[in-house]
Amino acid sequence: MMSTTPPRQGQLYIAGRWCNARSGRVETVFNPATEAPLAEVAVGAAEDVDAAVSAAAAAQSAWGRSSGHERATCLRAIARGVEQQQEQLAQLQTANNGKPLSESQIDIGDVIATFNYYAELAEQLDARQDQPVTLPDAGFAATLRCEPCGVAALIVPWNFPMVTTAWKVAPALAAGCTVILKPSEITPLPELALAAIIDQAGLPAGVFNLVTGSGAEVGTALVAHPAVRKVSFTGSTAVGQTVMKAAADDLKRVSLELGGKSAALMFADADLELALEIVCGGIFFNAGQMCSATSRLLIERSIAEDFMARLKRRVDAIKVGDPLDPATQMGPLSNRQQYRKVQQYIQQGLAGGLRLISGGEPQGMSKGYFVAPTIFADVPFDSPLWREEIFGPVLCVNTFDSEQEAIAIANQSEYGLVATVLTTDQERASRVSAALEVGLVWVNSPQVIFPQTSWGGMKKSSIGRELGPWGLQAFQEIKHVVVATPKTQQPPE
Ligand code: NDP
Repeated sequence: MMSTTPPRQGQLYIAGRWCNARSGRVETVFNPATEAPLAEVAVGAAEDVDAAVSAAAAAQSAWGRSSGHERATCLRAIARGVEQQQEQLAQLQTANNGKPLSESQIDIGDVIATFNYYAELAEQLDARQDQPVTLPDAGFAATLRCEPCGVAALIVPWNFPMVTTAWKVAPALAAGCTVILKPSEITPLPELALAAIIDQAGLPAGVFNLVTGSGAEVGTALVAHPAVRKVSFTGSTAVGQTVMKAAADDLKRVSLELGGKSAALMFADADLELALEIVCGGIFFNAGQMCSATSRLLIERSIAEDFMARLKRRVDAIKVGDPLDPATQMGPLSNRQQYRKVQQYIQQGLAGGLRLISGGEPQGMSKGYFVAPTIFADVPFDSPLWREEIFGPVLCVNTFDSEQEAIAIANQSEYGLVATVLTTDQERASRVSAALEVGLVWVNSPQVIFPQTSWGGMKKSSIGRELGPWGLQAFQEIKHVVVATPKTQQPPE
């Protein structure tokens, strides 16, 4: 059964139409603050993936040949559509994900900025196509083309549903790729709403497709599909490794944005009030469910006790509760599975005798996946709480005596996504930023992200970068054309 109206009851978006999953199966999506059912979502499977990839493949040639200007028009229409519905979208995301409404509003602003930014880059592509390349031999001329890499599978997690999606959909469409989006089964509602906006944005049928369902069925089928040329995945490091291995069979292009265990390094000369704000934001924003969470705090020993006392007062006062209440500073975790995982880490910390500074107890709500913001101090470097990504509001703290020691501890991680440096000494800030093995350093700054700067990291945190021109290049192939110039121009013998 096909229709062009947005889905009431779980449907997929394939070839410019809303349609039921071939299996006819639907699954309930819940509000993590109340545990109440929110909607029924279609459970896609391999045959739905096949239909979506066929639609994308059929649309690829024409979309790939369209001008950057034409693609920019569609991207701006999507940005406008999101802008017109920003309040409803923020409400929907908060209902589905549990983050405070103010945080959802920030996310929607980021989505609008990202679509507008890649509209600009798409337009610039027109002027840059077939540019001459300077060669050292007059007998040849060369030009450079950037071409779309083809049908792209975009797979995203549940912590920033609209944002991670925009960071993939916008550059992929700007580059001229057709796409199949697979949202998380936990938070598909924001993406379904985005699909309804994209449906009205003037894209040719088949350019954008959305298949809901599980990673095990839809995700696996997408990565394995022979007509998919590029996989852009955001999620856990473990699943990222599986995706990369599966993509290797066809040597598909792969971009991976994975986990993190990032550090905030706080020196004795830091502005303490600013540092409090930044440290709390770095771990309690989105209830700590951020790949970029600065979940390891390193404090210079001379200020550690004073700062910890202030931090405890601040954290004990964080208002946890209904994410729709404007006074709420931290909502619930996004799902039951994550709630259990975070509680297990906290119990492990308590059972292991770690020094508890704040939190550690259940929040005392009868419904919802609420966890108290929690801090452990003097956490041994071999503790799972210090080494592993908890993906929740749990901060682990240690002290250091020298800059070199702070850098060494921060770099002692299999991950390398981001870091925060807190110091008023500019030279130290530069030295430390250069020495940290991460993709992005914030100096005396909250975790602001601009479409113009890159997103991604080193070691097991990423393969490639999103955002900026690098986000666009991730969906492009490079082609040079080298032409031998006529011999008549050579002097007679
Ligand atoms: P997962 O890795 O479990 O899932 C991510 C997505 O992949 C989901 O849509 C999931 O489907 C899908 N998936 C699961 N298995 C497969 C498979 N075998 N093949 C293809 N797709 C699959 O991560 P979470 O959703 O739990 O998200 C949390 C993780 O994401 C954290 O580790 C976090 O650090 C990371 N993350 C990284 C970011 C970055 O920019 N570096 C940003 C945001 C999050 P489903 O769950 O629906 O079954």
